[in-house]
This record gives sequence, structure tokens and C-alpha cells, in this order.
Amino acid sequence: MALLRHTTGEIKERSALTVNPAKTCQPIGAMYAALGIHGCLPHSHGSQGCCSYHRSTLTRHYKEPVMAATSSFTEGSSVFGGQANLLQAITNIFSIYDPQVIAVHTTCLSETIGDDVPQIVKKAQDEGKIPAGRYVIHANTPSYVGSHVTGFANMVKAMVDYFATPSTSPRKQINLIPGWVEPADMREIRSLATEMGLASVMFPDTSGVLDAPQTGRHEMYPAGGVTVEQLKTIGDSSVTVALGPTTSGPAARELDSKCKVRAEVLDLPIGLRATDRYVDTLRRIAHVPVPASIMEQRGRLVDLITDMHQYCYGKRVALWGDPDQLVSLAEFLADLDMKPVYLVTGTPGKRFEERIGEVLAGKVEGVKCRQGPCSDMFLMHQWIKNEPVDLLIGNTYGKYISRDENIPFVRHGFPIVDRVGHQLLPTAGYRGAIRLLEQILNALMDHQDRTCKEESVELVM
Ligand code: SF4
Repeated sequence: MALLRHTTGEIKERSALTVNPAKTCQPIGAMYAALGIHGCLPHSHGSQGCCSYHRSTLTRHYKEPVMAATSSFTEGSSVFGGQANLLQAITNIFSIYDPQVIAVHTTCLSETIGDDVPQIVKKAQDEGKIPAGRYVIHANTPSYVGSHVTGFANMVKAMVDYFATPSTSPRKQINLIPGWVEPADMREIRSLATEMGLASVMFPDTSGVLDAPQTGRHEMYPAGGVTVEQLKTIGDSSVTVALGPTTSGPAARELDSKCKVRAEVLDLPIGLRATDRYVDTLRRIAHVPVPASIMEQRGRLVDLITDMHQYCYGKRVALWGDPDQLVSLAEFLADLDMKPVYLVTGTPGKRFEERIGEVLAGKVEGVKCRQGPCSDMFLMHQWIKNEPVDLLIGNTYGKYISRDENIPFVRHGFPIVDRVGHQLLPTAGYRGAIRLLEQILNALMDHQDRTCKEESVELVM
């Protein structure tokens, strides 16, 4: 914290130094996605330290024990490769923990060595180490490229690579790829599709896994998650609705090219208009009018926006996090007549800055948007030092800026390790947008109550 107090407003262009990055490493995303398959044990092909870090980050965010195995590299495997470790691990995991699926992701170390995971898995298969009806899938997730977001996308695409087969008997169902959102958001996204009368296969699905109810009994594999049987039918679906171009687009496009399942790639349904687009897409697919129950949810959101507009109007906001989330959040804030002026993501990608330009065009002036290497919390803090904002929205790592600059702060995104509720209460869909707006309004009002002059304190706001 003391370090941040020395952040200078003088901005120098950097090319080889990132300070407090607005991202984390690829395998965390791969591990999160893998937990969305029922009965799956994620496996980290690398050293124990990587696996411990990834598990603890997920555990701190979701407040749930996160199970994962590791190839446990030592000096020998670091030099000669990790084949022997992975083969032994596959044998041990199936005999001791009995998962349906082992989802292997690589790490910086195994990628640098150049371990060929598909070849190792084939060897395990040939040697009878993989029991009948059980599976080992894999995704390459070296952390010196990409971020937790691309790691998630890679593992979701692996689900298509390993389980999808071209259709022999089409089914009346759609595929839903929810993107990296909370378990509660996944439940909300599926619930909207169900209310529209659509049967869906959602993958991954961490609801019921990372927000599982307390039963008094430890379940190694909680009840939630998409099943292998469901994954094997995704090639039979009529269409894939992929939410979040960065996290879900690659899997949807792969499914289209492999099984000819048409892909509709949309923004994450966070906020009013992004949810409108999601609901409208479901309406077109289902060939039904939007039910009154969903229109009521929307109406309540619009009512809240209208009632509280004066508290949002003109407020400058700084945001950081994942590209898919930032695009939808920025659009929602602009719809509230707020001004999302600073946006930073450490996740690389081609369309992010262009999409931010599109959703804010003609609504917000002077937007600063940065992506990729050196797009970090340090730069964000420097921008704020030069021209302050009224609100911060992002993951837990903004709390030092919030404290040092006395700016109200709404936690959103990954990771949130110092508050609760994010995994249990959605911010997706209309109901989620009501919660998000409630958080924004309460943060602004709390700040006003705390900081305004004595004679300006209002009982009724
Ligand atoms: S950055 Fe690489 S070495 Fe570090 S924890 Fe992530 S995967 Fe492991």
C-alpha cells in the first residue's frame, strides 16, 4: 500500500515492465473451466508450486475447496521432460480419485521443455492406464502468453476437440457457452434460456460445483457440472450461443467447423442492452415471444435506472479486468449516463479496443483504453492521479487505489478475495443488472454520506 502512495502522475511509456498486471496466469482459467465438467479432476502438468497457486486463487475467490492434481515436476523432470510423471499421475488419479475426466493443462515449465501432452495421453491409452469410459483431455496453457481468460477459452475449446462429434441425429437443444462468469451467472443465463422454452447444454457449468450447498458431507465431485454424456451431444445441437467473444468464441467456431453447428457469438449478458441482445437471440431461436416473466424482470431494471438516474449521471468511472466483461460493463455504464473513461485489461486480443470504441461512440469523450503487456494497475493509477474518477469497478486489486485516493469501489470480476456474494448472486441478466446497479448506487451513496459536509448530510437520498 505504501508503494502505491509513491505512484507518480508522470507517465512514461514502458515496453518491458508490467507493474501490478491486470490479469493472472493461463492455467487458472483452464482449471476453472475444467471444474465445470461433472466428475472432472483438473491436472496441472508442471511443478507443485503452480498448482498450489492456482488452487489457492480459485479457493480464495469461490470460498470452496478446489481439487486439482499435479505432475509434481522435480529437477529431473524439468530437464528430461514430464512424461513419466504424467503417466504415473494418470494411473494414480484413476485408481485413487476415480474421476470421469482428467483435464490436463500445461504450465510455463512443461511448455518450455516442450512436453507433447497428446502423445503422452495416447501412450497412457495404449498402455491401458485410462479405464474404459473415462477420459483424459488437455489444453496448452503456457503463461508467458495470454492470460487466465485465454486459458479458460483453451480448455473450453478442448471440450469441443475431445467430445464433439458430427451429428448423426439432430436434437432439439442449443449449446450455451457462458464465458468466464460466476456460478450464479451461469445459473441465471441458463434460467433465461429455460424460461424461453429452450433445452440447452451449458458448457462449462460451474454452478453446483463452486457454489455447492453445505450438506455436512464432503463431495469430491459435487452434483453440478456438464456431464460427459451431455458433452457428447453438443454436435447434435441446432445452434451454439457463445457469450463473450474472447472466452467462448474459439470453442463455438471450432464446433461450427467440426460439426456444422451454427455459432451466434454475443457479448456477455451483463447490463441492459447486452441482456436484450441475448434474450432477443433466444427469442429468434425459440420462435416464441419473450415471456411476461422476463419482461417483468427487464421492467424492474428500467424502473430502477429511471428512479436513480441523478446519482449516476456524469460520474467518471475507471474499470479493469477481462475484455468480455469490460465491453458489457462499459456499455451498461454509458446507458446509465455514467462515463467509463479509463479501461485496462492485461488480456491480449484483437477486437477489444475496437468494441469499446463501438459501445462508447458518441456517448463518452476522452476514453483511455489499454490492452496487453504494460496495461496494468500502475498505469490506471497514474491516469487517476492526473484526472480523478468518481468510481472504481474491478477485481480486489483495486482496493489500494481506492484507499489511497478515497474513491468508492465496486468489486467485479476475478479475483475477488476480500468480499463475499459474487459467486452466489448474479450480475448477468436483468436480475443481475439490478444487483450491479444496486452495488454502484450504494457505493456512491455511502461515499457521499461519509465525505459530504455536516450540513449536507441527507437522511433521504
Ligand atoms: S506464471 Fe507460469 S510458472 Fe508462474 S504459476 Fe503460472 S504457470 Fe506456473
